[in-house]
Amino acid sequence: MLGLAIGSFLNVLIDRLPQEESIMGRSHCDHCKKDLAWNDLLPILSYVYLGARCRYCRKKLSFIYPLVELITAALFVFVVWIGLPLSPSSQLLVGTENWLKETGPWLLSLHVLVLEKLALLGIVSAAIVIFFSDLKYQIIPDSIQLSLFAFSFLFLITQGVTPKVFLNQVISAFVIMLPILVIFLLTKSKGMGFGDVKLAFSMGFLLGIMEGILALYIGFISGALIGIILIFLRKKRLKSKIAFGPFLVLGLLTMLFFKNNIFQLVRVVYPF
Ligand SMILES: [Zn+2]
Repeated sequence: MLGLAIGSFLNVLIDRLPQEESIMGRSHCDHCKKDLAWNDLLPILSYVYLGARCRYCRKKLSFIYPLVELITAALFVFVVWIGLPLSPSSQLLVGTENWLKETGPWLLSLHVLVLEKLALLGIVSAAIVIFFSDLKYQIIPDSIQLSLFAFSFLFLITQGVTPKVFLNQVISAFVIMLPILVIFLLTKSKGMGFGDVKLAFSMGFLLGIMEGILALYIGFISGALIGIILIFLRKKRLKSKIAFGPFLVLGLLTMLFFKNNIFQLVRVVYPF
């Protein structure tokens, strides 16, 4: 339920931030501009009940609205419930134990666990907004970039990072940003936007070098695959642009939640 509600809010961010609209104020129909009532705004339910059309002008509503709500709800459940393999409780406690010795006893491991989940929910939410605002408007709002970085920072703190590890993450942020920056500069921002460069920085910071490289790899492979499929289906031509942010987000979330599986896969493919 929380995921659905937050998903509904993320829809507001996805549509308003790229157009620099205020995120306060009533939601209105994009077509007839009529203010929406509370029962037009219930996640999923309103969409189904209204038959995917605006109550007032009967204009068809994008399926992206309920999709964002469903994805947010699903990822929230995943993070809180199943997301545990990311930090097996034993591993988490070992990390925090050392850290608690340095920072003092006021932070109990339960608080750290709650903070870790909150950080992950924040990362997932920011990732969803980046995915869809880049897809719809080819813009990644700076405020969301900053949120992603801040939640990543919080997440690293809950993993019990030492200053040395932290320095490592900063270096890896620059390393992961570099290839995207080079493409950005070489293609004179036609191939990648500067938003992708900033996103790659946060990815490197959050994931570390090896995980970051694999996340970029997943981004490039999935981007190329979808691109080829779209050209094949004649939805796009060889010279048309598709946003790259969604593919970076895909790589980011895959490495964040399934890094062990991916490393295992890499070891099977390259057994050395
Ligand atoms: Zn309308």
